[in-house]
Amino acid sequence: MQTQQGQAQPPSAPASGPNPLCEVGRNHPRDRHRMKPLADHPGVWECPRHDLFARVVDKETADELARGDRYPMHNGQEGVVVGTGGERHGGVLLYYRPQDG
Ligand SMILES: [Zn+2]
Repeated sequence: MQTQQGQAQPPSAPASGPNPLCEVGRNHPRDRHRMKPLADHPGVWECPRHDLFARVVDKETADELARGDRYPMHNGQEGVVVGTGGERHGGVLLYYRPQDG
């Protein structure tokens, strides 16, 4: 059987996995709830209750980012890093929210 070295793997679709827990819920076990995939931005989840977003980034990127760092959001707005979550296939969950005043 022929191996297909060098062939790019198909892009993984992080949004196809289980929806991640909201960052707020991770810190408050009594308020655990999951985020919802954003229809317009595959691979991005949102928590409308907390105005929070999450997406998967590489581990290196996650390591460089800390809470409060600026992070450009999926829609081009300025965002702020809230924290990183558990590992997912393909990377690490990064939580962020829009920057406001
Ligand atoms: Zn939430």
